[in-house]
Amino acid sequence: MSGDGGGAGGGSGGGIGGGAGAANLIPRAVGFVYAIVAIFALAILWYTGKINRKKAFIFLLISTGFGFLIFAPVAPHNFQKLILQDVTSLGASLQVAAFGLILLLLLSLVFGRIFCGHICPAGAIQELASLVPLPKIGQNRKEISRGIRAVVFVIVLAAAFGWSVGIIDYFGLQEFFSLDVTSVLFYVFLGVLLLSTVIYRPFCRFICPYGLLLSLTAAVSAFKFRRTDKCIECGLCEKACPTNEAKVGDLKSECYMCGRCIEVCPVEGALVYRRSTGRWSAVGIPDEKEQAENTP
Ligand code: SF4
Ligand code: SF4
Repeated sequence: MSGDGGGAGGGSGGGIGGGAGAANLIPRAVGFVYAIVAIFALAILWYTGKINRKKAFIFLLISTGFGFLIFAPVAPHNFQKLILQDVTSLGASLQVAAFGLILLLLLSLVFGRIFCGHICPAGAIQELASLVPLPKIGQNRKEISRGIRAVVFVIVLAAAFGWSVGIIDYFGLQEFFSLDVTSVLFYVFLGVLLLSTVIYRPFCRFICPYGLLLSLTAAVSAFKFRRTDKCIECGLCEKACPTNEAKVGDLKSECYMCGRCIEVCPVEGALVYRRSTGRWSAVGIPDEKEQAENTP
């Protein structure tokens, strides 16, 4: 078992959990409860069309605030600490942490990566950084980003189980959200954020081991953004998508539910958040039943 003192997070091991002010008053479990409630709320809002990218911005702010306030629900940190069996840094028992992470995976199996999109503070703050109006690079290279993340995943597991080393700790999530500017690791994640202004969500797409698991469940999720027969195939959603997941046939495993595709779609009802009802409708093509229903 690895404590904070033995890992990269040692410099600020008590940074959040043992920090001053609100972090001491609000249990991290509040962040988990917020995550569950927000996933259901966003799923309903996307389903009913009552939210768009601009309105969802408020979730990015709240989630980022939770990151700074109580460092929760920062899933990659929890995943890393869980496989290190670092109960002190988790702030919960291994069973509770495992339950939380498995529940989020199950919810992504139903709703897609709503958690990554607007709730995980690490993802939310990268999404905010992506709003800086700079040209983005690497959008169409999802095979490369997924390949690198898979290699990182293996390294993270090997380091944890083989040497009790927390690779994810070296990305400075904890130091950044606890504003530990005296730690060099603070500047590592700050660098990730700066990179996020030109590369969409670099930590999520290239590094996050928990994101890899979520991408697998999201690929077969029941609900996802899908086209209907109202689609005029203008291609605007494909151009707007920062992860190359808006094409017909894309599984949406790398869809961060950012809403850019819906925002640019010129036809109301052509792109909707819906449950898959058949093999092909799962990837964006209306199945025969739906086509029949939608045919006047
Ligand atoms: S990929 Fe990882 S860091 Fe990114 S939003 Fe998802 S859980 Fe958080
Ligand atoms: S633009 Fe791409 S990543 Fe964003 S919601 Fe649409 S398909 Fe998902």
